[in-house]
Amino acid sequence: MTALPPGSTIGILGGGQLGRMAALAAGNLGYRCHIYAPEEESPAALVSAAWTRAAWDDHAALSDFAAKVDVITYEFENVPVACAEFLAPLKPLRPGIEALRVAQHREREKRFFERIGVPTAPFAVAVDEAGFAAAVRTVGTPSIAKTTTEGYDGKGQARLDASSDLAAAWARLGKREVIVEGFVDFAAEASVIVARALDGSTICFPPPRNVHRQGILHTSTIPGGFSPDIVRQAEDIGRRAIEALDGVGLLCVELFVTRDGRVLANEMAPRPHNSGHWTQDACATSQFEQFVRAVCGLTLGPVAVRSPVVMTNLIGDEANQWPAILAEPDAKLHLYGKREARPGRKMGHVNRLGAPAT
Ligand code: AMP
Repeated sequence: MTALPPGSTIGILGGGQLGRMAALAAGNLGYRCHIYAPEEESPAALVSAAWTRAAWDDHAALSDFAAKVDVITYEFENVPVACAEFLAPLKPLRPGIEALRVAQHREREKRFFERIGVPTAPFAVAVDEAGFAAAVRTVGTPSIAKTTTEGYDGKGQARLDASSDLAAAWARLGKREVIVEGFVDFAAEASVIVARALDGSTICFPPPRNVHRQGILHTSTIPGGFSPDIVRQAEDIGRRAIEALDGVGLLCVELFVTRDGRVLANEMAPRPHNSGHWTQDACATSQFEQFVRAVCGLTLGPVAVRSPVVMTNLIGDEANQWPAILAEPDAKLHLYGKREARPGRKMGHVNRLGAPAT
């Protein structure tokens, strides 16, 4: 395994909070990070050695970026595939292009899970209004319609039941390709984050129990309280997915745990994930350090849980609670340095250590 030594530069595509926390972890191991992101504001660039602010299709800027870094990764799965294809011949790109291609499109993702034998909710895809009605008939109600691309945090989704106005739902979703999924009456939501090293070895973080509000992650709790069989199914899904992609880096699969003890895959992200933020303060290795280790070709770190923990996202003006959180003895506050607290925007999170009060 050829490791990139500390002092090397990690190129990160995307400039959000995941890149920021990866860059902070990289700094602890002696690496530098160079961010490539087109937006005006970049939480990641604020803590990194360099930032190229340029468009995803600016080949001159991409060539220059590739020349200055030793390995390239991404913190955001909507990096255009064409951009990744331009960069891949220039420097190692991890976890790789296929992971991006699959994670960017909900139908491709579902078909990928099918191909590797991972169960999902039943689904059907539509590209026009008549097809949408047919897809809803095939899947049945209750169901959830989601745009196949660019949806996240519950955006681009519509809940459907027997009395839904399908024409209105089709219009609300933007009259574009959608996937209709059977609504899973889950017992719990979970996620598995798996790391895969250059030598093919893998390690999974223990799956937290996740609670969403309005489609956005609200809390992740460790221990998740799942049976050994559920944990085994979750880890098996994570490993199968990253191995099928031949990915080197991190992959998160969001999961539904059904009332009859099955684990279904919802969606995946080939990067650190919000549901892994608890690892920063309650695990032997944080997901961000693990990401850096994997991408740089180092040995993966241990994942022993050091404390029970509840990670809570701070959305919009919830981040204004920072003085009270700082006064809590067992809370660790993480803020992302974003200037404007728009509604629904992830501004930070807090890890509360110790058993939650009952
Ligand atoms: P997603 O953007 O696909 O991660 O969906 C956001 C959240 O919506 C999930 O974490 C679930 O809480 C809920 N959700 C999405 N798809 C389904 C489904 N097929 N059945 C039940 N709940 C769902």
